[in-house]
Amino acid sequence: KHAAKIRLDDVKEDQARDKDKADRATSEQVLDQRTRMILLQMINRGVMSEIHGAISTGKEANVYGAVAYPDLNGAAVQRAVKVYKTAILIFKDRERYITGEHRFKAGAEKGNNRKMVKLWAEKEFRNLRRIHGAGIACPEPIQLKLHVLVMEFLGDRRGYAYPRLRDATIEAEGGEELWKRLYTQLLGIMRRMYQVCRLVHADLSEYNILYNKQQLYIIDVSQSVEHDHPRSLEFLRMDIKNTGDFFRRQGVDTLSDRTIFDFIIA
Ligand code: ATP
Ligand code: MN
Repeated sequence: KHAAKIRLDDVKEDQARDKDKADRATSEQVLDQRTRMILLQMINRGVMSEIHGAISTGKEANVYGAVAYPDLNGAAVQRAVKVYKTAILIFKDRERYITGEHRFKAGAEKGNNRKMVKLWAEKEFRNLRRIHGAGIACPEPIQLKLHVLVMEFLGDRRGYAYPRLRDATIEAEGGEELWKRLYTQLLGIMRRMYQVCRLVHADLSEYNILYNKQQLYIIDVSQSVEHDHPRSLEFLRMDIKNTGDFFRRQGVDTLSDRTIFDFIIA
């Protein structure tokens, strides 16, 4: 009986190649050594095989496209990798989401950026799991390691991400009638998120909703709070106002914010 032999040179070569792949992701935005190690480890473990350029570079996080593995037809299965930035001050601004959040009580020392960012990524991962589990369209969470979150890629097979609702071409697809249906769809999502997931998104707008084929996808839920968070209803009102304003600008005859609020929490 012969165990398959793996030549050390092959391993080294593989690692060199993998390192190259991880490097590619860092070429546009400099990622620190720890982040590179996490990405490299994920590649070595087959979570993904290749990381592409950034889909989005924001102040809190970068999102990268990645290839996981070829499917049965040889087509690539895509992933999205969200890397939270660790060396930033914006977490001061997040105070209001964290205070009163019982899931944050353990280990949320202020002033420890790395720990905070890790908790932030954890929160997004758990929120995504809950939302996805409730049957709401959103990226399926796949893997979490410190401040690096791997999730389902929302986009086409060529690696193009679905547009944000803000940039979607609704007019061309269905115009007024479609806008109206999407509005109704969103109200259903918000209610389900509150009633089933017991969460309030807390940063819901046309920027954090992706669109494809008459379907809305909810993203960016790291700041989402439990329904019993002391400020959850304030955040919910804000979500209702922001999304309502957007649909009103598209000419949808919306319900009053008050009516929607009652519909969601009732
Ligand atoms: P920032 O606000 O600092 O830019 P963010 O926290 O808002 O970052 P997200 O909103 O989660 O980050 O993602 C930023 C962008 O990346 C989204 O607008 C979307 O275009 C893209 N994106 C995020 N997740 C996915 C995904 N799973 N599939 C495809 N594209 C995604
Ligand atoms: Mn966002």
